[in-house]
Parts: sequence; structure tokens; C-alpha cells
Amino acid sequence: MAKKENTVEDSGFLTDWKYAPAPEDNKHIRLNKKYDLFINGKFVKPVKGKYFDTINPATEQKLAEVADADEKDVDTAVKAAKNAYDKVWKKMPAKERAKYIFRIARLMQERAREFSVIESMDGGKPIRESRDVDVPLAANHFFYYAGWADKLEYAFPNRNPQPLGVAGQIIPWNFPLLMAAWKIAPALATGNTVVLKPAETTPLTALKLAEIIQESGLPDGVVNIITGHGQTGAAIVNHPLVNKVAFTGSTDVGKIIQRAVAGTNKKVTLELGGKAANIIFEDAPINQAVEGIVNGIFFNQGHVCCAGSRLFVQEGVADEVIRKLKNRIEKLIVGDPLDKNTDIGAINSKEQLLKIQDYIKIGKDEGNDFYQSSCSIPSKGFFCRPTLFINTAQSSRVVQEEIFGPVLTIQTFRTIEEVIEKANNIPYGLSAGVWTDKGSKIFNLTSKMRAGVVWANTYNKFDPASPFGGYKESGFGREGGLHGLSGYLNM
Ligand code: NAP
Ligand code: MG
Repeated sequence: MAKKENTVEDSGFLTDWKYAPAPEDNKHIRLNKKYDLFINGKFVKPVKGKYFDTINPATEQKLAEVADADEKDVDTAVKAAKNAYDKVWKKMPAKERAKYIFRIARLMQERAREFSVIESMDGGKPIRESRDVDVPLAANHFFYYAGWADKLEYAFPNRNPQPLGVAGQIIPWNFPLLMAAWKIAPALATGNTVVLKPAETTPLTALKLAEIIQESGLPDGVVNIITGHGQTGAAIVNHPLVNKVAFTGSTDVGKIIQRAVAGTNKKVTLELGGKAANIIFEDAPINQAVEGIVNGIFFNQGHVCCAGSRLFVQEGVADEVIRKLKNRIEKLIVGDPLDKNTDIGAINSKEQLLKIQDYIKIGKDEGNDFYQSSCSIPSKGFFCRPTLFINTAQSSRVVQEEIFGPVLTIQTFRTIEEVIEKANNIPYGLSAGVWTDKGSKIFNLTSKMRAGVVWANTYNKFDPASPFGGYKESGFGREGGLHGLSGYLNM
């Protein structure tokens, strides 16, 4: 009798469970036809009157039009932020500032469902992610930094911490609301004012955040949110009244920004790309590790800078891990982001889907063993099946370059020295994961990994109190925790 490959005992999961659709209701969502720029506490039209569409990547349908800010609009926003800084925000007692940040957190919690649904509609991520991860974490960042606002002297004793002025903040499309929270909350807590630009494909939750900010009574001009394209971001970076640039996005744009601010006295933090190693030792709890691998790369369609996109498995367990992984990804549900059963939602844009498909072709052409789930995907919208490249070489492009999609490369190793060398042999250094039963191995490895975050026996865990950031081409500076305050202070 042929061996039954995928049983409950083997993988720890039920196999052929059929789920009825469980879509999250979106009838309560009210979107405007057009969104203007949030400048000086009001929604204002862009000077040139230009707008662009934001679409739902799961249906390819237009959700709304958003304003396309040009240099003049950026100038108005930066001047509003500068004025609010000089006249109101830097003079306000820190404990009063904290109350506004706290209020924003509370309002976000009250409207959590609305935020989650819009996040999934605009960006394509599964509702489970936006509901259980993005939105609660975003609110927690505001709560956490509200607590620091009047304790900066304790955070940095004897250093007389002072705000910088206007912070220009530019964020990507993979965690739209969460990245806005990572940026705005510490800036406000440290007494700075803000001009923030969300990514062009995911502007809606930032604009909803603008509504909350208005409702919170935050003084006009303290936070300004403007939408647009790359040039809008560049105009923020280059504006002479901007004192600090905080950027999360690609390494290529990070380099442009660094060149632009060279020779100015602007402070910069850059959170850039990644290509994390997820390392499984023979003594690891294999079923948990397989879940950790899945969570590390297929979570959020692989649109995660810290995604565990390079798997390293110790030789003795490689066959078992790969077999269980194949079985597990067969069971992942790819489809409607608003369905609560969906594991992998829509790829954020057509452009990104084409980029991922290009890399899949490159990986095949390089001769790597290819495996893709046979699951069905919707005929409309941008979707990609979970994909493995097995037995990849260290020099392979799919191993070296950031794909930013549900594509995992697999390599094997024999010794800890070998895996550390291979894991570090990459231009990036944002994060890593290690799975083993031995604490000593964890400490040995984490001290030698050139990665800002190393998770042990877990993956993709975030908390507002812990810092996050990269080495090498993954950028510099830390966001989150006490460390996240210092990027916004002169000391
Ligand atoms: P991106 O193209 O670099 O865009 C990021 C942001 O910068 C967007 O708002 C973008 O506007 C804007 N932008 C584009 N060109 C600009 C310029 N010349 N000057 C100033 N701003 C400019 O990155 P993405 O494709 O949106 O995001 C994916 C990348 O972000 C990945 O590489 C990922 O690893 C990285 N990421 C890193 C972290 C981290 O914490 N390290 C977190 C999330 C994502 P438009 O949207 O209008 O182009
Ligand atoms: Mg969109």
C-alpha cells in the first residue's frame, strides 16, 4: 500500500477540511469618491487639481480617487507643520501632548473594524492579518508612545532631549496603517510635527487616520498627510524646512534619499529591504518550525521586509521539513482578502505581481527545483500561489535578491559555522529566525548574525516596546521601543 503522505499525525493539521466562505462584511464602509490632502487640520484640494485612482487589488475595481500632491502642496504642508511646531507643539507641556496621542489610539481602537476592512480592500492583505495584527499593533504604538511623551528625561537622563522640528515621513504599501503609526507616534511623543506620505497604492487608511486626527482635536498642522507619487516623496525629502526624514521602503529609494540629504543637517532613519534567513536545526520542534516557515514567508503574501524568504535546513531533517512544508502549502487558501479563511490575499499591485512572476521565471531558468501549490486562485485580481525553490545555490538570484512575494528558497547545511556564513552572505541584514531546542545554540547564532532582529522558535512577532531596524543595505536607525525615540531627538 502506498504511504499516505499527509495525515493528521504527520503534519499536525487536518487535511481535507473544506471551509464555507466566511466573508467579512464591508457594507458599513463609507468611502468618499475623492480624497483631498490633509493639511493644517483641513482637507484641501491639491493646487493643480490632479487625482489618481486607488484600486482593490483583489477585484481590480476602483475604490476612490486621491489627490496627487505636487511641490507647492508639499510646501504648504511643510510650512503648516513648521508653524504648528513653533507656535503650539514645542511649547505644549509633554503631558498634554501625551493626551492627544492617547486619544488617537483610543479612536483607532473604536474604529478598528472599519480600519481593518479598508486596509484589506485597499492593499489586499487577508482580513485576519489586518484585524489581528496591523490595526491592534498600530493602536498599541500610539498607546506606547503616549506613555513616553512626559518621560523623555528618564529615557535619556542628563542628555536634555529636544525635538528636531518637522519630520518628513514616507512609507510603503505593505503595512500602510502600521507604518504610519510607527512613524507618527514617536514623532509626536518627542515634540515634533509631521508631514507623512503613504504609498500610492495604499493611501486610504492613512487618510482615515487623518479623520481620526481631526476628531482628536490635535492642533492644526501638527500632523499633515499628503498623497502622491515618488516625486511627492522627493519634494518632502528635499524641502529645506524638513529637519528629519524617516523612510521605510526599498533600498533603491533609500539610497536616493541618502544622497539627497548628504551635506544637509537633516537627521535620517532608513528602514529598507530584507532577505531574512530562517534556520532550522535538527533538534528543532519540526511541526512548529514548519508553521514558523509558513508564517515567516507566506504571511501577508510575502510582502514583509523581514519575511523569512531564505530557508536553511540542517541536512538530517531536510527531507522531513520539505515534505511537511509541501503538504502544508497545499492547504493554504489563496483568495478573497475579506474572507476570514484566507491565508494568502492579493498581491498589492499588478506591477508587484509581474515582478514576482519575473523572479519565478528567473528561478526556474537558473535550474532550481521548483514547487508550487496546486491551489486554485481567483480569475480576477492579482494573486500568486505559494512557491518553493528547493536546492538553491547561494549565488542564485532568487536567493540574493528581494522578491517581496510568496516565494521561498531552500538551502541545506551541515554545521552552525556554515549556516552563519551563508545566512550573512547577502547585502541585507534586517531579520532572521532560528529554530532549535538548545538555548546555547540560539545565543551562539544570534550573536553572530548580522541582522537587526533575530527571532528564536517563533517568527514575525512585533511589539511596540522592542526596537526594529537593519544592518547593511537594510538601512540604519531603529524604530519601536525606547530606541525609536532617539531618532526624533537632539541630545
Ligand atoms: P518604494 O518604492 O521605495 O516606496 C516607498 C515609498 O517611497 C512610497 O511612498 C513611494 O511612493 C516613495 N517614493 C518613491 N520614490 C521616491 C523618491 N525618489 N523619493 C522619496 N520617496 C519616494 O518601496 P515600496 O515598493 O513601496 O515598498 C517595498 C519595499 O519596502 C521593500 O523593499 C521592502 O523591503 C521595504 N520595506 C522595508 C521595511 C522595513 O522596516 N525595513 C518595512 C516595509 C517595507 P510611491 O508609492 O508613490 O511610489
Ligand atoms: Mg489600493
